[in-house]
Amino acid sequence: MQTILVTGGAGFIGSCLVRQWVAQGDLRLVNLDLLTYAGSRTSLATVADSPLHTFVEGDIRDRELVARLLAEHRPTAMVHLAAESHVDRSIDGPQRFVETNVVGTFTLLDETRKYWRELPADQRERFRFVHVSTDEVYGALGDSGTFDELSPYQPNSPYAATKASSDHLVRAYHRTYGLPTITTNSSNNYGPYQYPEKLVPLVALNALDGRPIPVYGSGNQVRDWLHVADHAQALRKVLDQGTPGETYCIGGDCEHSNLEVVHAICDAVDQLNGTAGPNSCRKLIEFVADRPGHDWRYALDSSKVHEQLGWKPTTEFAVGIRKTVRWYAENRAWVDEITGGNDRRGRLGLDC
Ligand code: NAD
Repeated sequence: MQTILVTGGAGFIGSCLVRQWVAQGDLRLVNLDLLTYAGSRTSLATVADSPLHTFVEGDIRDRELVARLLAEHRPTAMVHLAAESHVDRSIDGPQRFVETNVVGTFTLLDETRKYWRELPADQRERFRFVHVSTDEVYGALGDSGTFDELSPYQPNSPYAATKASSDHLVRAYHRTYGLPTITTNSSNNYGPYQYPEKLVPLVALNALDGRPIPVYGSGNQVRDWLHVADHAQALRKVLDQGTPGETYCIGGDCEHSNLEVVHAICDAVDQLNGTAGPNSCRKLIEFVADRPGHDWRYALDSSKVHEQLGWKPTTEFAVGIRKTVRWYAENRAWVDEITGGNDRRGRLGLDC
């Protein structure tokens, strides 16, 4: 059975991938995660006793640890998700983003290269380094058009700039050393187990609690929404069938403005609470100062991954949002655990 070294597997997307891939039963996963504020072992409760999952608490910047894990577990691939991931936090404190997203990715690449070059030729050929990145590296679109794998890089936030830097390092390690790397650039994910600072969980929890729902600027910024479980399935396709040296854009073909997303969440909460009309939680919406440098629109052309890897998202947005809202309503213990019981819903990202 193949062993995969996953990084960031206690976070939002990583934990979904770990739960899904362990349930498929055909891979052994070693999960390296620092358990920052965004990661939690509670998100991995369903795989805690699985012989197919080994959790290691540690830092991707720790060279010795990374070298030891590679030597001990002899993985056939690395799937790299560990990152600082919140744009607003990158505005307030970009250094941490440079350290984790750039230096951390560099450390993984460099240690993986040393391990990979000593493998027998057939194993070297089959090895993969899958780097999970974002569509935010391409910058912002106007009202029309889409990004694809050939779009130029124009990152606007410190977060996007550090992800772009890591993508360039990944590309360079393929071109210079021949390391079989693949980069994926995905659109906005939503679903359960996301730290409640991002739009969907924050709005869901505030609506459930009858608290003000902050909407940045006009709320007309557009994102392409992808359910996290669909993303994890796409990453499995990329791992199994992707071509080294290639990049793949993974989108949900599902454009919505932030305000439309907020309305969909409010409708789901109203349905749960039996509230409607003048009592709808839409009345909690408050328009607040926009995020500095807020990208206007992202949209991805995912035809490459559709045509070459046979993957398409299957979760309908309205259904996915309803299930996500219900999950937050029913999993307050997880919210309390990951936030340490603190109210972490205050405004970030205005420090400029
Ligand atoms: P997340 O913030 O929920 O989780 C990140 C995980 O990385 C956490 O478990 C954290 O503990 C871990 N981590 C952070 N620093 C670490 C370090 N130095 N060493 C080891 N582990 C560390 O993020 P997410 O939303 O799950 O995103 C995962 C990846 O997907 C990131 O690389 C992100 O850039 C990318 N991505 C996210 C989205 C999205 O919508 N969430 C979209 C596109 C791409």
